Amino acid sequence: MQKLADQIKDAAKKLLAEQKVDLVIGFAEGSLPLRGTPLFARTPEEADKLTWNLGCENNLANYLRKREGKVAVVAKGCDVRSIVALIKENQINRDNLYIIGVPCSGMIDRKKVNAILGGKELLEIEVNGDTATLKGNNCSETAKVADLLHNSCKDCRYGNPVIYDELVGELLPEKETDDFAEIKKFESKTTAQRRAFMNSEFSKCIRCYACRNACPVCYCEECFVDCNQPEWIGKSALNTEDNILFQVVRVFHSAGRCTDCGACERACPMGINLRLLTRKLVKDVKELYNAEAGVNMDDKAALATFTADDPEPFLVKE
Ligand code: SF4
Ligand code: SF4
Ligand code: SF4
Repeated sequence: MQKLADQIKDAAKKLLAEQKVDLVIGFAEGSLPLRGTPLFARTPEEADKLTWNLGCENNLANYLRKREGKVAVVAKGCDVRSIVALIKENQINRDNLYIIGVPCSGMIDRKKVNAILGGKELLEIEVNGDTATLKGNNCSETAKVADLLHNSCKDCRYGNPVIYDELVGELLPEKETDDFAEIKKFESKTTAQRRAFMNSEFSKCIRCYACRNACPVCYCEECFVDCNQPEWIGKSALNTEDNILFQVVRVFHSAGRCTDCGACERACPMGINLRLLTRKLVKDVKELYNAEAGVNMDDKAALATFTADDPEPFLVKE
């Protein structure tokens, strides 16, 4: 990781010193362990603060839309997929973007760390190979890094950036095909069971909209939930039906555009299983349209193209 961090710093400093870009967006150490924080470096000295570790989980594609000037971004696989999706939606000008691609095998989920430490505060983490030592106040635990990864990282097959201008580190071996096991399990439940699960999950929602704000492909100037005339949806978080409606519409709006980055679920302060919905859509889009968002520059967005022999199983005919 230190080697990667040094390579990122060198690449960024060079780009800024040679005035090839005006800004480099990457990660700096946060004030707490596993809290990599976005850094906007405009000088080689500022770029010296750049880092790379298992807490650099934010999707930096979020900071690239409609940006003036030439920008470089430090981007792992899911960030790059989101960037590709946004380039296709004319939200990012590829000519003004320099991608420092970083192959990624996963980021650590702090909720899993907290569970192992029994809720005690994490003060330090040491990673040696595939083992992490988690140090808290008067306690220390070890765990396999693979067991601590976000679920989105465990399922990720695109840790290698699909496009880049410069790569730091080595490309990773290809991963096996997605099996969507947890979605199939959910699909096998009865309608009543699925509904009960949705009610239970979304009764926890406080309508903070962190999920929406963290999503790189959720960028309408005015979200339907904020609209007053007409008021499409009630504003109170006490109404579980409205909370579910918000999520269903949010997820439908990202159909064929969601890159399964997991940023929405990570942002949720209530620990709601949002990936069950987003990944269900990813699975459906893959099965219905043989499409995945942001995996190359050539494919058109699944819902922005049409052929006469498209399967239409959702049409109900009398
Ligand atoms: S989803 Fe993939 S690219 Fe993104 S952080 Fe996880 S492993 Fe890395
Ligand atoms: S809906 Fe969630 S998983 Fe999909 S792109 Fe947005 S933040 Fe990422
Ligand atoms: S982040 Fe979680 S609590 Fe906040 S609106 Fe989204 S689902 Fe609800």
